[in-house]
Amino acid sequence: MDLDKIRADFPILSREVYGKPLVYLDNGATSQKPRVVVDAMSDEYFTVNANVHRGVHYLSQQATELHEGAREIVRRHINAASVGEVIFTRGTTESINLVASCFGEAFLKEGDEVIVSEMEHHSNIVPWQLLEQRKGIVLRVVPITNEGELCMDEYRKIFNNKTKLVSLAHVSNVLGTINPVREIIEIAHSHDVPVLLDGAQAIPHKAVDVQALDVDFYVFSAHKAYGPTGVGVLYGKEKWLDKMPPYQGGGEMIQSVSFEKTVFNELPFKFEAGTPDYVGTTGLAKALEYIDSIGLDKIAAHELELTHYAMARLSEIEGMRLIGTAKEKTSVVSFLVGNIHHFDMGTLLDRLGIAVRTGHHCAQPLMIRLGIEGTVRASFALYNTKEEVDILINGINRVCSMF
Ligand code: PMP
Repeated sequence: MDLDKIRADFPILSREVYGKPLVYLDNGATSQKPRVVVDAMSDEYFTVNANVHRGVHYLSQQATELHEGAREIVRRHINAASVGEVIFTRGTTESINLVASCFGEAFLKEGDEVIVSEMEHHSNIVPWQLLEQRKGIVLRVVPITNEGELCMDEYRKIFNNKTKLVSLAHVSNVLGTINPVREIIEIAHSHDVPVLLDGAQAIPHKAVDVQALDVDFYVFSAHKAYGPTGVGVLYGKEKWLDKMPPYQGGGEMIQSVSFEKTVFNELPFKFEAGTPDYVGTTGLAKALEYIDSIGLDKIAAHELELTHYAMARLSEIEGMRLIGTAKEKTSVVSFLVGNIHHFDMGTLLDRLGIAVRTGHHCAQPLMIRLGIEGTVRASFALYNTKEEVDILINGINRVCSMF
């Protein structure tokens, strides 16, 4: 990978903060955007902009072609069987809420169980808790090991005849753990239980083939994969989506409306009420094309090397506590040093131009499990370099010397 060339695609990477070159290591929160993504979006606003689907006029048809073309690019990227299985949402959070609401409505009743794990992001916990309140379902939680891996033996044992859905992270946003998703799905399917994977932290780092995985639902956000904010994807198998009621009502999601009877639209439009973010979907498509132009194999290898290098260099620091030491992990390193509060570490690193995230990372149950309040998290993207890891290490050493 030509990192100089790649970095030149991301204008923000050449800016300074506090007079220091920016070292952006907060990619788990959101990635930076290459010029091709933003250019495609501003071009669309300046030269094509018109509402999609309903227009007879030229611009509307062109905007529709871009929007539906973007859906086809997403379909190809994740190898969905059809574009009807690719639903545009506002992001991972909305995608999970959609499944909780609509799968919940169609298939879950009081006493039914949904399996999550101790390492989930709040967006894969709270929607199910809302369903606990609404429908009396029961949330079952798979524990993790001290290294931050799922306890697969416990996972195997948790199934019973009330289990109706498994909903787990593909990659943890705090620990970087890559969960054994093939095995997870095989086990669930052997009990006839469908699986939702939260791919928010996987999609920028790993090739995902939803058909090869045989996953039932796969969700992700564009903004963590070099695309714009406010757009995401819910992939769902047609056999589930067909039987699920719509999420929201409005324009686009109907075939016909009268006060006597409304007929819903076909997939995927049944789940897409209202004007979609058709410019955002163009940005998402460009981002995926950008990733593909470099190659996910190369990206994954580069990020794995950065992760291993960072873990090795971090562990040389006195008082270092690495949080998340799973054998299979990528792109995220979480840590605490001595008695230094994570917030102080993050604030002082910021003054050195290094952007990291501190706190509970929207995974408070995981913090409770680990007996901590928060961590410092550095998370990598395809444009990060070993030199930036060195700057981080020097920064941490400098902060340590102040305490
Ligand atoms: N799941 C995971 C694992 C995440 O890392 C995030 C974002 N931090 C989300 C879900 C939520 O994504 P979004 O805020 O884009 O909806």
